Amino acid sequence: MSQTSSPLAKIIADEIARTGPITLEHYMSLCLGHPEYGVYTARDPIGTAGDFTTSPEISQMFGELIGLWAASVWQTMGSPQELHLIELGPGRGTLMSDALRAARALPGFIDALSVHLVETSQPLRAKQAESLKASGITPNWHKDFANVPTGPSIIIANEFFDALPIRQFERKNNQWHERLIGLDERGDFTFQIADAPNTHPLLTALFPKASEGDIAEICPAAHEMIEAVGTRFQTTPGAALIIDYGHGISGTSDTLQAVAKHKYADPLVHPGLADLTAHVDFAALVQSADKAELTSYGPISQGDLLIGLGLHERATALSQNTTSAQARDIAQSQQRLTAPDQMGTLFKALAFTSAGLAPPAPFTVSDRS
Ligand code: SAH
Repeated sequence: MSQTSSPLAKIIADEIARTGPITLEHYMSLCLGHPEYGVYTARDPIGTAGDFTTSPEISQMFGELIGLWAASVWQTMGSPQELHLIELGPGRGTLMSDALRAARALPGFIDALSVHLVETSQPLRAKQAESLKASGITPNWHKDFANVPTGPSIIIANEFFDALPIRQFERKNNQWHERLIGLDERGDFTFQIADAPNTHPLLTALFPKASEGDIAEICPAAHEMIEAVGTRFQTTPGAALIIDYGHGISGTSDTLQAVAKHKYADPLVHPGLADLTAHVDFAALVQSADKAELTSYGPISQGDLLIGLGLHERATALSQNTTSAQARDIAQSQQRLTAPDQMGTLFKALAFTSAGLAPPAPFTVSDRS
């Protein structure tokens, strides 16, 4: 029975019994961010002992290359004396710690930095503090991006957008109806659709050619974030790099995914005990970025991003003076991050800049979207 499958299941079932079926957006925010039982709020779900692994946890090269990317973008910004380096959803702080170590090669950049971590999870904030100790830089934590002070900024987000709650809609009689989560006669969670049709403007903008039975997904929090980045970059220069898994063209399919202990799970069973994510709709983000007067580049594949940033050269350098087991490890992680049948293609990178900045390499003018 779902209601007894986790402490959060009982809380959600009680809410549905009281107020009626809930949106997927609300369900997902509870599963990920419930103050006591949420995936991120209750514990650290990242790494081999947790539920899932991310690129910076696979290899130090990932964060190092992004650190060098940030340093080179800072130079194209005219090397401002003060720069906010902002990471959205920094997880264990591994990416930032590797990035800062690599960027030490450019002392002017390190001297200009203040580091801002936008993080809601207390257990992960503690891990981030630990990871960043060696950098000698004390980060500033924020619950909301809106609280980061203004000024020239570089924003990094790896696997942040896939964790933002989505809404789903089903096409019925030529109209969209929101998918809701209710209780069946056994008290288990079940999908159903709202009686009333829904006319959210993003539905017509993103899915003009839908057919009967299609499922459309939108992520309101992602659009709010892009809007906020746009507002920030109106007054001060900046660039953002978003890396995540998802699709380059808005499509109609159900991409909600639950993963617990590195295995796929049913999203409606064990709420709070399985990580919930959905594919990032990069085309939708580009549309929002246009509206927010940002210049967008990409998405390009994660493989192209990392190879363009010098992954092979870094791997060769790292493999010098190592044991053969370590060299094999480096080659394997290189493969895992870039091979099309692994993380190389499904994972993509999208960059935004304020008006007038040069393309942030490896993105070029021809990647403008
Ligand atoms: N970037 C890290 C972690 C990815 S997991 C990595 O690549 O390893 C998602 C991260 O986003 C976690 O740190 C989680 O706590 C954070 N997060 C999720 N929703 C958030 C929100 N609404 N606001 C701020 N941080 C959030």
